[in-house]
Amino acid sequence: MTNWDTNEEIQIFREYLRIPSVHPDIDYEPCVEFLKRQAKSLDLPVSIHYPVNDKNPIVILTWVGEQPNLPSIVLNSHMDVVPVFEEHWTHKPFDADIDEDGKIFARGAQDMKCVGVQYLAAIRALKRDGVKQLKRTIHVIFVPDEEVGGYFGMAKFVTTDEFKALNVGFSLDEGIASPTEEFNLYYAERTIWQIEFICHGQSGHGSMLFKNTPGEKIHYLVDKLMSFRKVEAAKLENNANVDLGDVTTVNMTLLKGGVQGNVVPPVLSVVFDIRIANDIKLDEFEKTINRWCEEAGGNIELNYIHKNPQAPVTAIDDSNPYWLAFKKAIDELNLKMKTKVFPGGTDSRYIRRQNIPALGFSPMNNVPVLLHDHDEYVRCETYLAGIQIYKKIIPNLANV
Ligand code: ZN
Repeated sequence: MTNWDTNEEIQIFREYLRIPSVHPDIDYEPCVEFLKRQAKSLDLPVSIHYPVNDKNPIVILTWVGEQPNLPSIVLNSHMDVVPVFEEHWTHKPFDADIDEDGKIFARGAQDMKCVGVQYLAAIRALKRDGVKQLKRTIHVIFVPDEEVGGYFGMAKFVTTDEFKALNVGFSLDEGIASPTEEFNLYYAERTIWQIEFICHGQSGHGSMLFKNTPGEKIHYLVDKLMSFRKVEAAKLENNANVDLGDVTTVNMTLLKGGVQGNVVPPVLSVVFDIRIANDIKLDEFEKTINRWCEEAGGNIELNYIHKNPQAPVTAIDDSNPYWLAFKKAIDELNLKMKTKVFPGGTDSRYIRRQNIPALGFSPMNNVPVLLHDHDEYVRCETYLAGIQIYKKIIPNLANV
């Protein structure tokens, strides 16, 4: 059994995992303090920005390049983690225990405190190897609030002058662990729309057969959306090359309305969470939604809880030198990798909307996908191997 207690990188990782930066009402100060110490030990300047308020810091460690006027490389990660149901954990979620198999258990072990400190570990390893500087400047960015939409973090930060001053040419952020040998690389995300359909209509006694009742309208809409869902589900099931990120997902998430069993209510509403595939034209899709509302009988209010614009897809071909540099590192390390569209949302969408190419990658393979799950863990070997992967990727990117 390896004694991991003597491994410097494992100890730094565990220290970060032990900070309970868990939603809601996160105190990020211990993260800031931890990262300031990391910056000092790496001899990197650190800056802290508060784009929204003084509770939501953005911490940037900078490794200035030989040609600091060239567009820079961002290595992004979020500091926040999702809540835990402690009774379902076999280890305390903020103790970062290591079991006899070398698994580190903690919330954030996969999503994504691992990645944040692996970036730093790779820089430490490069510096120890005598690398004083790379060509481009690297900004290692730690953001708050990603798990609840990034509105107090990256969403706002990309609109600030401080961000523009970073002159970002490319960004790397999180991916998802892979249960197989093959690593996942994410070059795009679907577009998130959440729509509440508020159906107004004829109300009255439950014994009647009125026309234009809210129930009939909801029925029509649910039928249309669920039929669409079936088509998309079939695409996924019938083609092994189609991934979740390649199809549009449609899910009913909230149903509201009614007063009592014998009263037809004047209003009923339903919410759908829709993640729109990148081959769908949003204006066409919106027209279809509006048409369905008319066909359902009209007088349906649409409340868009989320109506994201489509973010550009990052090119994974010869036109993108950062992709080529990334791919070269993966090939040189002889790793297997699959390119995919991210099924959920990450901060990369805010970067891509600024027309900056961004890739999502978490160097974890042969591990169950445990993000947001109980007993989230990563193996020490996997963590350390990931540092070696970044040690190859980071100089490749920075020397483009
Ligand atoms: Zn994450």
